[in-house]
Amino acid sequence: LFASVEMAPRDPILGLNEQFNADPNPKKVNLGVGVYTDDQGKLPLLKCVAAAEKQMSEAPKARGYLPIDGIVAYDKAVRGLVFGAEHPAVKAGRIATAQAIGGTGGLKLGADFLKRLNPDAQVLISDPSWENHRALFESAGFPVDVYPYYDAANRGIHFDGLIAKLKSSKAGTIVLLHACCHNPTGYDLTDAQWDEVIAVIQAGGLVPFLDMAYQGFGNGIAEDGQVVIKFLESGLSFFVSTSFSKSFSLYGERVGALSIVSESAEESGRVLSQLKRVIRTNYSNPPTHGAQVVATVLNSPELRKMWEDELAEMRDRIKLMRTALVKELSAAGVQGDLSYITRQKGMFSYSGLNAAQMQRLRAEFGVYGVDSGRICVAALNSGNIQGVAAAIKAVM
Ligand code: PMP
Repeated sequence: LFASVEMAPRDPILGLNEQFNADPNPKKVNLGVGVYTDDQGKLPLLKCVAAAEKQMSEAPKARGYLPIDGIVAYDKAVRGLVFGAEHPAVKAGRIATAQAIGGTGGLKLGADFLKRLNPDAQVLISDPSWENHRALFESAGFPVDVYPYYDAANRGIHFDGLIAKLKSSKAGTIVLLHACCHNPTGYDLTDAQWDEVIAVIQAGGLVPFLDMAYQGFGNGIAEDGQVVIKFLESGLSFFVSTSFSKSFSLYGERVGALSIVSESAEESGRVLSQLKRVIRTNYSNPPTHGAQVVATVLNSPELRKMWEDELAEMRDRIKLMRTALVKELSAAGVQGDLSYITRQKGMFSYSGLNAAQMQRLRAEFGVYGVDSGRICVAALNSGNIQGVAAAIKAVM
């Protein structure tokens, strides 16, 4: 049966993790995978999460099946967080939200739903994008093309190229956009650029799909969410996938959501009914624990405040590490303008190093980043940053 099965290539990032784990170098540093660690290099268990779990364990509940679209209070809380509980579109019942298995699950539900709705559409993702975007939409049956994004020469965004690509795309083309903290480059569009993108999408009849995996890691929860509000105000119908993996440090619980904005409550009801069919035929209904934790935190004023403070602490520490990296690189003798490092947002920095340099970083210094030059600045800390800066200088 399996004689003709070929070995699949290793996942580029998770494969890197395996290589890291096997490396005996005591000074090794993992800047490959997108995981936030604290200044001690530890994956944090947020206090708000521990408090919610304590509350939950004090009133233990039997685990029946959840509704197909997940915990009602969770979906409502996510909608409130992403779109604003008081927004007229929310109040009008125009937004359907379904709990999903992480942000990846939200993307896949959206992709499968779109395939049923618009089977001949093409998907556009940014060049470059999170590796899994292409694979996810291809596995849903779509051809995937790219729009220009990273401008290496100017260390920023190739905005004219992006706009030109969108303008030349057929109506119905699905455009995947990173709502904030672009992975892997760290470069986000400005407010004015978003306005232009929205206008082009609207004029061309394109279908926007926002991937919001890092809300709160850029400038703040509300600030990062402004992009979603802009789309809402435009009157477009669109998709938003949400991930709480990073913002709640709940990676392994797989907590996410898919929200679909439509034109009316009546339309939204039909859309949700179809979305539920996608869920039912994939995994029937989602798991309880992680979403219950997030719902408990978001729905309790006290725990929510705790979460916002802890998220701000993670965000501020990342910014501090960006400033420190600039300082350490300069101190190590790296010449030139390094301000791009602090202009970038979120967990990642596109360092501009090439694949050969990234391989040398691993082999000679035990510093693990992705061959594209992406490093996770959220894994830098006061104990490893000097060594990392010296290693980068050495391979440059
Ligand atoms: N989108 C982007 C841009 C991401 O970086 C990630 C996580 N690396 C995801 C989606 C998936 O998130 P999750 O781990 O919650 O599935």
